[in-house]
Amino acid sequence: MTNDKIQLTGEDITRIKADGIVNAANNSLLGGGGVDGAIHRGAGPELLAACWELGGCPTGEARITKGYNLPAAWVIHTVGPVWHGGTQGEPELLARCYRSCFSLAREYGLTTIAFPAISTGVYGYPKEAAARIAIREARRALAENKTLASILFVCFNSATRLAYEKGLAEP
Ligand code: ADP
Repeated sequence: MTNDKIQLTGEDITRIKADGIVNAANNSLLGGGGVDGAIHRGAGPELLAACWELGGCPTGEARITKGYNLPAAWVIHTVGPVWHGGTQGEPELLARCYRSCFSLAREYGLTTIAFPAISTGVYGYPKEAAARIAIREARRALAENKTLASILFVCFNSATRLAYEKGLAEP
């Protein structure tokens, strides 16, 4: 499977001019730390108001809002699993996050989408295992959805970048 529509960047996700960026949110969708806090700061208070209307989101699912003051038109909020050692269905839940995001991207006609490394911050998911799932689901989405032009993985630290580089080198 080709990787040419999958790119890595170290840029802050709130500065990316993709059609959509993905937020690693929590179940309340009402903001938190990490990438979630950065996205809410960048988008402004209208994002929080829109998230209130959504009434939360179960783990593994995703919801979409506008991007408000962000350069991205849309924000897809997904809730990754907290890592409990891998025995609580974490890999399937993480895969479901990516699939839910790609499904919304398709529904809303997004051609470019940027993802943070969902669950690998405060939620503690091991970076290499998470990157492998992200890449597998991205390749699947690219094969299924021809309107998807590029998928950007934001590697906010060097360990994350290494994990993605390793994953992309695998077939
Ligand atoms: P989670 O709760 O899903 O683990 P975090 O926000 O704690 O979410 O971390 C998810 C990933 O997002 C981590 O790799 C973290 O380094 C990264 N991250 C944090 N801030 C930003 C940002 N502004 N842009 C892109 N990625 C970020």
